Amino acid sequence: MALVRKIIPQSTVDGPGNRTAVFLQGCNIRCLYCHNPETQALHDPEAREMSVEEVTEEVRKGIPFIRGITVSGGECMLQADFLTTLFTAVKSLARETNHPLSCLIDSNGTVPFERFPQLMAVCDGVMLDVKAWDTDVYQRLTRANDNTTVKQNLVWLLKHDLLTEIRIVCLPDIVDVETILHHIAETFDFIGKNAPVRLLRFRPHGVIGELANHPMPTDEQMACYADCARSLHLAFSIK
Ligand code: SF4
Repeated sequence: MALVRKIIPQSTVDGPGNRTAVFLQGCNIRCLYCHNPETQALHDPEAREMSVEEVTEEVRKGIPFIRGITVSGGECMLQADFLTTLFTAVKSLARETNHPLSCLIDSNGTVPFERFPQLMAVCDGVMLDVKAWDTDVYQRLTRANDNTTVKQNLVWLLKHDLLTEIRIVCLPDIVDVETILHHIAETFDFIGKNAPVRLLRFRPHGVIGELANHPMPTDEQMACYADCARSLHLAFSIK
């Protein structure tokens, strides 16, 4: 069983193609720019306990219009055992229906993926949030202790061809996007592999607290980030 906040039957913004997006309840960090603060609490009366069978039935309804599922949160890796069983069931559903279904994870990267080999054996990829590179910026942004595990996950996923996408929320005056891009490019060079980078424009809509009125990056700022990514030969997109 898992605590499920919501399921979007067909989403085009949670990974490649049309996908069923499953949002699990509970997060282990507290990002200043969180758009879904209601998903942070580990328990919430609006979240519903669902079994793997129940979630899989929701996925079945999307066939043949979906390419797979993406599980997000909160932080879905807090319920990693559920993910293993769910992804195994979805792969079995794909065989039964003769319709390919990929299983992706959208994660803040704070839980080490290498500790879950059975999950990673049925997972097709991870969309990893790299929220900051410098520890002090990361602490300020997330109220977590440090981002060592996120960086280790970046390397591990890259080495194992499981890094579907890196996501960076471009937050002016707080997140040094260029620094993150430089370190990502260094990591790619070091490992000899790469992955697409998605630059997400910070939007204050739905954000509560000190960033509720924080400015969005201007088009000029986004263009600078794009120039930086281009100069580092990164495959990137802007959203
Ligand atoms: S990791 Fe995601 S869900 Fe958790 S606090 Fe940050 S933005 Fe919100």
